[in-house]
Amino acid sequence: MMAMSSTQSTSSAADSSYLSLEGFANSHSHAFQRLLRGQVQQRDPNRADSFWTWRDRMYQHANALDLDALERAARLTYVECLESGYTAIGEFHYLHRDIDGSPYADPIATSLAHLRAARDTGIRLTLLFCVYVRGGFDRPLSPAQRRFETRSLDEVKRAIDLLSPHFDGRRTRLGLAIHSVRAVPREWLGPLAELARARDLPLHIHASEQKREVEECLAREGLTPVRLLAAEDILSPTTTVVHATWLDDADLDALERSRTLVALCPTTEGDLGDGIPRLQDLHRRGIRLCIGSDSHAVIDPFAELRAAEHLARLATLERCVLTDATGAVAPTLQAMGSANGYSSLRLDARGDRVHLDLGARLFECTGDHIATALTSGHPGIISRVEVDHELVVDHGRHLIRNTR
Ligand SMILES: [Zn+2]
Repeated sequence: MMAMSSTQSTSSAADSSYLSLEGFANSHSHAFQRLLRGQVQQRDPNRADSFWTWRDRMYQHANALDLDALERAARLTYVECLESGYTAIGEFHYLHRDIDGSPYADPIATSLAHLRAARDTGIRLTLLFCVYVRGGFDRPLSPAQRRFETRSLDEVKRAIDLLSPHFDGRRTRLGLAIHSVRAVPREWLGPLAELARARDLPLHIHASEQKREVEECLAREGLTPVRLLAAEDILSPTTTVVHATWLDDADLDALERSRTLVALCPTTEGDLGDGIPRLQDLHRRGIRLCIGSDSHAVIDPFAELRAAEHLARLATLERCVLTDATGAVAPTLQAMGSANGYSSLRLDARGDRVHLDLGARLFECTGDHIATALTSGHPGIISRVEVDHELVVDHGRHLIRNTR
């Protein structure tokens, strides 16, 4: 695990002292899903609620957003992320087409809308252009999924060619995403991995979030999703598997051997009832873990990190599970929240800092400030946030760069 890189310092005489941490990286985002918050917390009386029923509601929202609404949603999400201490975000972006499923005149219009939102708000961005081909292992896209469609590998390559000049590789970076082994045929996986390698793109993919996906993949391909990814040469030190909730030992072996990263999204996984990942096993094997707020039901890196450790405790009936060699939890949580996330997004964290107000009530009568922040903190203790040495949040509020 990374050594902690934190400084505790005192600012000008007018301010209280503060604790300065590396910025947090939000490795997995679908910005538009922020608009679902508070609207999907009512069970339909006629059927059990689940990830799959939530997904139907999510599609309804996705299909109601025009290009301007998508950009406004991204700006709202990125501002809230910055105010919560996230200085970088990985946008796993699959809403490529217009509401009726036809292509926009500019085929990369929605990707550029997210890029503008990141530039305007000041957050560091890796835009993960997502490939989405079919509705499931044995079915085509449904009408509700037609905005997501990528029709050919050539279409993906063209989009990457068109997008590449728009990213500076420092504050903004382009990446590639494969939606899942459900949504992308096996024969596409190898060529997409090759494309990512050839263009030096970080590669992200959802895998094994739901038991049903694992069962369907086993039935169809004779392999779990993770072992299918291994067989198709998708796993690598520049690949991030998102969720990885339902893993067997051979899946863990494949992730460990390939040095693949795993992005956990504990608040979303809890919201969706996905299951409890094998956190202790992932950590013991040295698999690099990072965090994402995914559906943005909650935007709070402290909550994600605390939930990961608490889930590990609830699963093992032990305390202090995600620890370093000394038995301390904070160094692991800090690496998950920052360095590992930046590695996943292939972004440079230099100049990205979060300053916590040590005058906040939270820190009264506490011991180690870093351990207190990482295990008991919340965005309300954030005073200032800097991205690339630029102040973007002051006194806990975003400094609007572009009010468009
Ligand atoms: Zn996701």
